[in-house]
Amino acid sequence: MFEKVTLIGIGLIGSSLAHVMKREGLAKLIAVSTRSVETLKRAEEIGLGNIYELDAGKAVKDADLVIVCTPVGACESIAKTISPHLKEGAIITDVGSVKASVIAQMKPSLPGNVHLVPGHPIAGTEYSGPDAGFASLFEKRWCILTPDEMTDKGATEKLKLFWEKCGSEVEIMDAHHHDLVLAITSHLPHLIAYNIVGTADDLETDTRSEVIKFSASGFRDFTRIAASDPTMWRDVFIHNKEAVLETLGRFSEDLSSLQKAIRRGDGEHLFELFSRTRDIRKSIIEIGQDVEAPNFGRDDGEE
Ligand code: NAP
Repeated sequence: MFEKVTLIGIGLIGSSLAHVMKREGLAKLIAVSTRSVETLKRAEEIGLGNIYELDAGKAVKDADLVIVCTPVGACESIAKTISPHLKEGAIITDVGSVKASVIAQMKPSLPGNVHLVPGHPIAGTEYSGPDAGFASLFEKRWCILTPDEMTDKGATEKLKLFWEKCGSEVEIMDAHHHDLVLAITSHLPHLIAYNIVGTADDLETDTRSEVIKFSASGFRDFTRIAASDPTMWRDVFIHNKEAVLETLGRFSEDLSSLQKAIRRGDGEHLFELFSRTRDIRKSIIEIGQDVEAPNFGRDDGEE
């Protein structure tokens, strides 16, 4: 599909893209750029690309597609670094979990003769770094693209096809709408997980060791989410501040009403909510976004 693709940042998402591009033959040349010598060396050892460059400006030379795969807070400085070296007509995209901020950070520096088509694959794990990637990460997962009305339609179509070849289903959305939807489906759940694991960690020593021992009773699933990359998630909350605070406000109100229901012994309120939420789980399985296996497919029992 492309003569040369440049990946800037080669962690979980960048390395997964490198694997799937190779498997599907999507680029003749893959250039890899990252900020540290160690990560670049590791990417070369694994064989993720054909060209390895610490200097992102050099790495984007002649690239038809540039994919920024770093934490979202790095986008502004990357856009400034690469702008003078971009090829006319190149497609510039990213994989960041926040979209309006990435556009605000990148658009002002990019030249008028390239196409910015921001993107976000809704696929990931709690692991990071160049060893974490695998070719099937994006299979049957959504990828959201957030071009604006000025974006070249051909560039958006080409990027859509690229993600489809990576195994994803693609949806086009307004950047602010993306940020609001993701605040509730991804950002808030991560915040809750970080908070609950942090609260457990703050308990007295004996209680804390019991929390870990009996973790199968629900806590364990939060610890998986709370093991996600601290830099990436710090940047998500800083760069999606408004939408996260908006959903957090709604969440706190609903939590207070649950608190009240428990205090008043209002079983009807609790039962009605728990039945509705069970139906949501059913719909997620029905649309193939999770498997029906009990206990997330683990073979041990859980209460
Ligand atoms: P990762 O595994 O931690 O890798 C991050 C990469 O970015 C590394 O190569 C790192 O370089 C580089 N980097 C970090 N800070 C940088 C900076 N200030 N300037 C230049 N390069 C920098 O991260 P990831 O999980 O692949 O996430 C990358 C992006 O994908 C994030 O924007 C995230 O929001 C988005 N995303 C993540 C997931 C997920 O589940 N992880 C899912 C969807 C989207 P060094 O190692 O050389 O320091």
